Amino acid sequence: MDLSLPRGIRDIVPEEFELHQRIRTAFEEVTDAYNFKAMEPAPLETLSILRAKSGSQVDEQIYHFQDKADRDIGLRFDLTVGMTRYVVGKRGMKPPIKLASYGGVWRYDEPQHARYRWFYQWDIEVFGDPTIDSDAEVMDLSYSLFKRLGLSEVKLHVGDRRVVEEYIRSVLGVSSDGKVLEMMRALDKVAKKTEAELIREYEAKGVSAAEMKKLLEFGSTRGAPAEVVAKLKDAGLKSAEGLSDLAEILKLRGIANVEYDLSIVRGIDYYTAIVFEVKDGARPDLGSLCGGGRYDALPRIFGRPELAATGAAGGIERIALSMSGAGTAESRSVYVVFTEPALYGEALKALSQVREAGIRSDIGLRSKGLRKQLEDASSMGFRSALIVGKKELESGNLLLKDLKTGGEKPIARGSLVEGILS
Ligand code: AMP
Repeated sequence: MDLSLPRGIRDIVPEEFELHQRIRTAFEEVTDAYNFKAMEPAPLETLSILRAKSGSQVDEQIYHFQDKADRDIGLRFDLTVGMTRYVVGKRGMKPPIKLASYGGVWRYDEPQHARYRWFYQWDIEVFGDPTIDSDAEVMDLSYSLFKRLGLSEVKLHVGDRRVVEEYIRSVLGVSSDGKVLEMMRALDKVAKKTEAELIREYEAKGVSAAEMKKLLEFGSTRGAPAEVVAKLKDAGLKSAEGLSDLAEILKLRGIANVEYDLSIVRGIDYYTAIVFEVKDGARPDLGSLCGGGRYDALPRIFGRPELAATGAAGGIERIALSMSGAGTAESRSVYVVFTEPALYGEALKALSQVREAGIRSDIGLRSKGLRKQLEDASSMGFRSALIVGKKELESGNLLLKDLKTGGEKPIARGSLVEGILS
C-alpha cells in the first residue's frame, strides 16, 4: 500500500505541533490584550464567495469540488474572506469590529521550501474604521506578537498601493484599470522573477519594456520612512500623505523596526491602500512571516461599501521554522530521573510539583537505570534532568543537570520550581 500523502500536504509532527501550540497561545494572549474578539470562520464556503474577486491568482489556488447535491463548494484559502462574509452579513455590529481567528487553510500553491498546500494562519481584522489608526493597530499587534515569540530581528516592510497606482497613472500615463492591475501584479513578483522574465511575461499583456523598467525602478524605492516619504513628495505624488501619517503614528506607538518598500503591493487584488509584510532578517529564505493591509474593496464586493477593512495574517509553519532556527524553543523542560527504583515515589512528588507550575516534564521508566533514563531525556529533547538521588535527598536537595552543557547544580527540595526557573 502506498502510504504517501498528496503533493504539498504533510503531517504536523509532535515537535512542530508543540511550537504551533506556543504560537497559538501567544497569539491568543496578545489579541486579548489588544481587545480583539476570537472567532473561527467556516472551513468551507460556497465557491462564489471565495471567487468574489475572480480572475485573481487566488482563483487558480482554490481547492474546490461539488458536494453530493452538486453544489459548488471551496475550501477556505484564507480566514479573511470568511470573516468579512460574516461581518458583512451582521448589520447590527458597532464599529470598530476587531476580530481574531486561527485555523488551517488550503491553497493549490506550487509546493516548495516553507510553502505548502495545507497550512495554518493566525488572522486579525478591524472592520468599520477607514483611518490609518486601525492599520497601525494591526501592525502594532503583529509586531508585538513576533517580539513575544522571541524573534528579535523581524522588520515591518510597508508599501502603499495608492502610491504605486498614482505613479502608474500619472507618471507612466496608463489609464486602463486592467493594465494598472496587471502592473501591480508584476511588481508583486519582483522577489521571485528577474527583470527580463517580467518584461517578457508582461509584454504579452500589453505592458511595454520601457514601462516595465520604469515601474521596477520605482518599485525599488525603499528605506527609512521619512526618507521615502520625502522622495515621493519631491516626485509630486499626492498619495504619499498616507505613508507620511502612518510614519508618525508608528513612531508614537514606539515601533521602530520599519522600512518603507514600494515593491510591497501584495498579490491579492482586494487590497486597496497601505499594505505590509513582516520578514525575519535572520531567515530571508522564509519569505514573509506575515502579510496584510487595507482591503476596503472586499466588503464593497460583498455589498457593504461603507464598511472599511484592514487586517493581517501570519503563517504558522514559517513562524515555527523561524523560531526553531533562533533556538527559542522551550528551554525549561525537565525530565525527572531517579538513581534507584525505591526513589520512584519521591520522583513522582517532584514531577507533580513541576507539572503544577506548567513546566513541560516527564519521568523516567522504572525498568531503566539512571544512565538509560538520562539518554531518554536527551533523545526526547528535554533541556534538563532533575535527578532524585539518595545522597542529595538526605541533605534536602535534588540535582538539576543541564543536558546541553552537562553542568549540574543542587536545588532545594522545598523550592524546586524556583530552582528550575532561576
Ligand atoms: P497571505 O494570506 O497570502 O497574505 O499570507 C499570509 C502569510 O501566510 C504569509 O506571510 C506566509 O507566512 C503564510 N503563507 C502564505 N502562503 C503559504 C503557503 N503556501 N505555505 C505556508 N505558508 C504560507
